[in-house]
Amino acid sequence: MSTEQWPNKETYELINSRDLKPLNLKSILYSKYDDLNPQEKSFYTLNQEKLEINTCEKCTFIDSTYELFWDSDYLLPDTKDKTFSCLCECCYEEVGGSPQ
Ligand SMILES: [Zn+2]
Repeated sequence: MSTEQWPNKETYELINSRDLKPLNLKSILYSKYDDLNPQEKSFYTLNQEKLEINTCEKCTFIDSTYELFWDSDYLLPDTKDKTFSCLCECCYEEVGGSPQ
């Protein structure tokens, strides 16, 4: 039987390494997708549907699907280079959106 303590040094380092940081909704909600690290980006991609979250098409802010402004419910004016179908509250105000 091993008398080694748990966690041993190797395990301890693994647990604390950035790669094994447990991710949850709180890790990514209200962040900008563009600012996420690769691990967080893949967490977002894998869980986006299940967690019912989405990103603003303008600034990549991550919010609940129900908190975002969708073109099915709001008039989202086109800007000179883009048409949006989903915006966060800030960008919605910035582009001058209005309820349908
Ligand atoms: Zn935005």
